Amino acid sequence: MNINRKIVPAGLKNNPNKTMKIISYITIHTTGNTNPNATAKMHADYQFGGSGEREASWHYTVDKDEIWQSFEDISICWHAGDPTGNFSSIGIEICDNDKSKFVQACDNAAWLAAQLLKKHNLPFENVKQHNYWSGKDCPKEIRAGNWGVTWSEFLSRVGKYMDEINNKPSDWCREEWELGVKLGIVANDNPRGSLTKEQVVAMIIKAKKANL
Ligand SMILES: [Zn+2]
Repeated sequence: MNINRKIVPAGLKNNPNKTMKIISYITIHTTGNTNPNATAKMHADYQFGGSGEREASWHYTVDKDEIWQSFEDISICWHAGDPTGNFSSIGIEICDNDKSKFVQACDNAAWLAAQLLKKHNLPFENVKQHNYWSGKDCPKEIRAGNWGVTWSEFLSRVGKYMDEINNKPSDWCREEWELGVKLGIVANDNPRGSLTKEQVVAMIIKAKKANL
């Protein structure tokens, strides 16, 4: 998916203008706005305009079609209702403006969570509900499991996208990986996995035999 960006400028009331010491968690929310017009883009515009001067902000909003980023990952936002949650987690708001497409919105958010776990090298367990930080009943529909996605189903979608990422070579190495597979130097499996010494030796010998 494409990540659209509309980064909130400094100086607005909803922008803490501080950066995290370290990014440790991803916090999942639902917006609680069931108005059909309350899309990811609408929330991006809302934050870009200062969130109505409320001290409320989060990094990404996701709906059934789109992802919009409002703050850099490293920026502190006010979304968790708890200092640790705010100072160390990336907030993702899932739109609940379209019940019939809520499962798709959650799937898109799971894709985004997987990209962020990979990008920041975070463990899978560090995807948390807003509820984990402050006890708020959020993400409400996922916690209740009454809009087609339970929390464990959400996490398994994140896991599925993690597997997809881990089973694809990085962009910078795609050509070399494909050539290595074609020449039989490496099996087409787990391209980002690590190697034992014997595997390294076997690959060098195979590459020599392939006249590389
Ligand atoms: Zn929340």
